[in-house]
Amino acid sequence: MSLSNSQYQAIMRIYNERQYQDRYEQDIRRREVYEKLPQVKAIEEELGSQAVTLARLLLDGDEKAAEASRRRTEQLRQQKAELMAGAGYPADYMEMRYHCPECRDTGYVERKRCRCFRREQMKLLYAQSNIEAVLERENFDTFTYRVYDDRKIIPGIEMTAAQYMRQVRGWCLDFVENFEQKGGNLIFTGSTGVGKTFLTHCIAKALIDRYQSVVYLSSGDLFDIFSKNKFHYEPEDDAQDMYSGILDCDLLIIDDLGTELNNSFVSSQLFYCVNERLNRGKSTVISTNLSMSMLRDAYSDRVSSRIVGRYTIIPLYGDDIRTKRQVQLDEISR
Ligand SMILES: [Zn+2]
Repeated sequence: MSLSNSQYQAIMRIYNERQYQDRYEQDIRRREVYEKLPQVKAIEEELGSQAVTLARLLLDGDEKAAEASRRRTEQLRQQKAELMAGAGYPADYMEMRYHCPECRDTGYVERKRCRCFRREQMKLLYAQSNIEAVLERENFDTFTYRVYDDRKIIPGIEMTAAQYMRQVRGWCLDFVENFEQKGGNLIFTGSTGVGKTFLTHCIAKALIDRYQSVVYLSSGDLFDIFSKNKFHYEPEDDAQDMYSGILDCDLLIIDDLGTELNNSFVSSQLFYCVNERLNRGKSTVISTNLSMSMLRDAYSDRVSSRIVGRYTIIPLYGDDIRTKRQVQLDEISR
C-alpha cells in the first residue's frame, strides 16, 4: 500500500496541472492590465532590458553606469506601482497566485515534501478515492431522520430515536464547526445498522471539504498497516510515511473497531495509536459495536481508560435502519 511509482507520478501530475493553471490565470490578469494600462507593458519591457544592461555593466566592471541603471530600474518600478494603484489594482495583481504558497505548487519545500503533498498522498494511499464516492452520498446534507423511529420512547434517554438523532447530529456538527480550534475525540457505540458509519462519513466529508487531512480506515485495514510497518520493515520513505500519516493526520477515523482479528499485538498497537494521537493533540473518531465494558475486555484497561477519559462517548440506539435508508434513497432517486 505504499506509494508506487505510478501513484507518485499521479500526484506530480496534479502539481503540474496546478502550476499550469497558476500561469494561465496570471496570464489573464496580465493581459487585462496591459489592455487598460498600456504604459505598464512598456515599463515592464524597459525593466527587462535594464536587467540585461545591468548584468553586462557589472561584468564590464563599470560601477558608475551600473548605479545609473539601478536608479532607472527603481524609478520604473515606482512608476509601475503608481499606475497600478491609480487604476485600483493591488500591487501584486500580476504576480503568481499559488494554491499553496508554502511550496509554490511544486509539492516540495527545501527538497522535502510539503504539507500539501502529504494531503494528496493520504488521499491516494488510504484509498480515499473510493471513499470519496461514498461521501458524496452519505453526508450531513443527505442525513435524514425519517429512517428513525419517532414513536417509541427509548428508556433511559426518554426520547424517540428520531429525536435523539437530531441531538446527535447537532453534536457532530459542533465537532466539525469547532474542529480547528478545539479538536476533540468521539466514539460512537451501538449495534449494527444504527447509523454509526453514516455519522463518521458525515464528519469525514465535512472536514475533508475544509482541507483537513483525514484518514479513514476500517479497523482491519488499520491494524494491517501497523503489522506491515512492524514486521515487514521497508526502508522506503513511503511505507513509513503511511504509518506516520496515521499518527499525524488531523483526523483519524477508525471504523468498526472490534471486527478485526484481535490479539495482543492489536491491543498494544491500539493503545499506542490512541495514546500517541492524544499526546500529539490530534483528533480521533471511532465507531464500534462494542460497549465500553466489552472494549475493556477485548483490549486492555489502559485503552478503555484513555477512551473513557478523553473521548466523548456517543451511544446510538434503535433498530437496524440500513434497509429503511435504502428504501429512502430509492425514493429520492425515483
Ligand atoms: Zn505545498
